[in-house]
Formats: sequence, C-alpha cells, structure tokens
Amino acid sequence: MSTPCGSRRNFIKTAAVAGGALTLAGNAANATVDEMPSVTLGRTGQKVSRLGMGTSWTVQPSFVQAAILSGVGYIDSSETYENGNSESTLGAVLERTGKRKDVYLVTKNAGFRENGDPAVFEQRLNKSLERLKTDYVDAYFLHGIKGDQIPVLFDENVKNAFEKLRKAGKIRFAGLSCHDARLVDVVEAAAKCGWIDQIMIQYNFRTMNADDLRRAVDKASEANIGLVAMKTQGGSEPFANDAARKETRLTGLLEKGFSVPQAAIKAVLADERIQVVVSEMTNRDQLKENSAAVTNPLSPKEARLLEEHRAKTAHLYCQGCGHNCEPGTGGARVADVLRHLRYHEAYGKREQARELYQALPVLERTFNDQALYAAEAACPHGLPVAQLLKTAERLLS
Ligand code: SF4
Repeated sequence: MSTPCGSRRNFIKTAAVAGGALTLAGNAANATVDEMPSVTLGRTGQKVSRLGMGTSWTVQPSFVQAAILSGVGYIDSSETYENGNSESTLGAVLERTGKRKDVYLVTKNAGFRENGDPAVFEQRLNKSLERLKTDYVDAYFLHGIKGDQIPVLFDENVKNAFEKLRKAGKIRFAGLSCHDARLVDVVEAAAKCGWIDQIMIQYNFRTMNADDLRRAVDKASEANIGLVAMKTQGGSEPFANDAARKETRLTGLLEKGFSVPQAAIKAVLADERIQVVVSEMTNRDQLKENSAAVTNPLSPKEARLLEEHRAKTAHLYCQGCGHNCEPGTGGARVADVLRHLRYHEAYGKREQARELYQALPVLERTFNDQALYAAEAACPHGLPVAQLLKTAERLLS
C-alpha cells in the first residue's frame, strides 16, 4: 500500500465530504468524533483503522464510499458474502473512487472446507480478485475454520499454497476467521502453526472474560498475531421475544442515554490485545455510532452499566460456547443453529438466516427430545435452549 490506510484523518471533514449526513455532535451515544484512530496490526506491521467494516450483509455502494471517506480503512469480505456480490460492490466502489491503496482489504476462502486440493486457494482467489477489481488483497483468510479443521493449519500443502500466493503478489498476509464452538482451540493452533499473520474471532463483552479464551488470546498476542474482533455487538441484541425486550427495558440503559451496542465495542477495544473491531454497518447512523465508540474509551460508569446489563441478561443470549451443550446431542450444532436464529430474530436477516441454517448438514440441525433437553440442561447460562431450537426449526426450515 503506498498510502498507509490507518493514517489519522480529520473525521469531521471527510464525513462531510462523504455526504454531509454525519453530524457528530450529540448525546452520549453520539459523542463528537475528531479522528479515526489507527493501530499497528500485529506482525503485519500495517497501520489500519481500529474500526473495520464487515460486508456479510448487503452493502450499498454509497455507504461503502461514505465509510471509506470517513476513515474506515479496514474492510472485510468473503467469496461467500451475498454470493460474491459484496466483493463486486467493493470492487466497483474502490475502482470508481481510486481508494484501493487507502484500504486494507481482506477476503476469505470457504472452498477449503469442501475441497482439500490446495489448488482451490489460487483458483478461488483469482475469482475474488476479479470481483474486487484488484490484483492483490492485503490478507487472505481461511473462512470460518472449525475445530475439526485445525489440521489444515499444520498441513504443509496449505501453508505452501498461501506462500505461493504471497510470492506471486496476490496476497500480502495470511489469516483465518472463526466463531466456532472450539474457538479457543483454533486460536491456540493459529498461535502455534507459525504462518498465520492475523485472525478474526468472535469476541464480545459476554465472552471475552472466559479464562480459557483469555489464555488463548494471550498466546496469539505473544506470537504477535494481528487480532481482529468480530460479532462484538453480538451480545447486545436479545432474541426478539417479549421476555428479552422486558429485560432490556429493565436495565434502564436507554433511558440513561447509554447505547449498549456502542459500549460493547468500547469494552472490546479496552482489551489492548485487540487491534481492530469489524462491525457489520449498513447505514450512516451505525457508522456514526461506531466511529464515536472507537474514539471515546469506555468510561467507568459505562463499564459498570454494561456489566450490570450482562449479568441481568445472560440467560437471553447464546454465547456460542457449544463445547458446553453440544456433547450430548449426537453431533448437532446448537451454537450454529442459535446464531442463525439470532440473524433471523434480532437482526431481521431472514433470508440469509434460512440459507445458512439450511446449508448445515441435516444431522447438525436435527434434535430429538433427548438431545433438546440434554443441551438445555448443559447450558451454564440458563437459556431456554429446547424452546429456542424448536423455534429455529419452525422459522428456518
Ligand atoms: S446454548 Fe448455552 S451452552 Fe450452548 S452455545 Fe448457547 S450459551 Fe453456550
């Protein structure tokens, strides 16, 4: 990159250029943003913006442009997002605006899951580059690696395939993303394998203080792996049922001018090991709120309110810790099914949620009564797991 994408920018000025819609002075949730902070991304040595943009949902070209112009210099995509349309949208915007070199661009390969041939990496990367209208990406990821795919990280053929792409100038760095129930094992393997430069992991205020995850992130940090958090706000939206809404109101957070999603980002960035937060932003209000969150640290009052909120609502959120509840289900993936239910219920991404659910092998989304109640009994957070899984089957089948 000839221009460091994380160079500090005058956020107010560029936001105005982006369309004048980002009026930043406001209440506590919309605090004034002066500059977009940047950070060095682990062993890549690259300066990137602390706020990154995820593109797994439909993104409008005008919004992508506004985000880039407001200082968001880290963009995450994948060959699978919107069946390649996210990459195509990004490519069109980057070509039209001439901003490719101002952006740290990540895309991912999901093909390795079905096809063990290392040639799949170059073949599929070439298609991504075509859609992205560029001749290189800054980082190329193994997409959504699961615990049972950890051997891929120690496969010399895979490592050599990435090295070949690096030498050809098609990728600069190698990485992976993970939100699997065995996240801890994947993070430890990434720290150990020696060729992964950065990782993007599910990490939020509900999960980040677990001892095993903290130890794994320590190992990754000691290996100087770039650490990117995703689904940081995943614990801020309850399943859309009356009990959840009532609990959220009971906390009184909104009445205090306190935005839970915003504090959720601040809580993650208060962990100095985490360098970037990737957020699924699709509109300027979210851009404005997230930009304010990365600029203003978590205050002691916000930290206290967030912890109160977490404790009061722990039974309303699935934390993705399937190692607790899946062993007694005969191979079903509780955490994945409940994640897809969240997409449907909390985020309103109904079509995508159904597609993701139906893409799971039938055995991984089938629960007999014994499995339902075994999972519920094993959930340490007291979720009504059986009821939620039945709801998922009804809504997503
Ligand atoms: S249902 Fe409970 S134990 Fe299972 S993944 Fe969700 S929070 Fe963890």
